[in-house]
Amino acid sequence: MLDDAESQRYSRQTLLFGRDGQERLKKARVFVAGAGGLGSVISFYMAAAGFGKIRIVDCDSVELSNLNRQILHSHADVGRTKARSAYETLTGINPEIEVEAMVETISEDNIGELLRGFHLIMDAMDNFSVRYLLNRAALKRNVPLFHGAISGYQGQATTIIPGRTACLSCLFPRAPPPSTFPALGSTCGVIGSIQVTEAVKYVTGVGELLENRLLLWDGLHVAFDEVAYERNASCKECSDVSRTDRTQ
Ligand SMILES: [Zn+2]
Repeated sequence: MLDDAESQRYSRQTLLFGRDGQERLKKARVFVAGAGGLGSVISFYMAAAGFGKIRIVDCDSVELSNLNRQILHSHADVGRTKARSAYETLTGINPEIEVEAMVETISEDNIGELLRGFHLIMDAMDNFSVRYLLNRAALKRNVPLFHGAISGYQGQATTIIPGRTACLSCLFPRAPPPSTFPALGSTCGVIGSIQVTEAVKYVTGVGELLENRLLLWDGLHVAFDEVAYERNASCKECSDVSRTDRTQ
């Protein structure tokens, strides 16, 4: 149930999906992988929207070169852990929700424990090796993965629902080589906002999701494009999931 303060806080959202939708958000437990450019936007809007529990994980400390895009952190946070800074910012935005911020490097060894009890995974990473771990964990736990990535003026997003859509490995069978890519804060704003919109719709059950569709944003030419994709029957990650589906 929403109390009086929550009813006021979310009054513009209950116009969209009712108190029932808001209560669903309140029950949702979200795992945000990364407190960088995308993670900042994602966790900001998820906290403001009233997702009941947010666990955000990042192993780094705030550097001056992060501040053009990582809006969770302020100038005074340089040198502090991103997790600490994220915790303070998010609880400042919305003290009604539960925030857990952890200094951790996401790995094969700890991902199971980190995700235990969480219903949604937000991909706010900057590399594909961890993205593949998130994808595998999403498939194993049967929870959705909201993918986003940016480089410079460009970004992309898609929504992966295990058993219903292709997985990240179907879409990207091979990781692009790791690199230091350019990053504009407002591109993180576009893509992170789309990921949160997807998560809100998934939880409240409204609208259409970016299922089996990769949305591409080109800020330089101000254009959205969309590429349809399908499950790869021989995908090394999700072919077991598809077999399970067929027998149900
Ligand atoms: Zn797959």
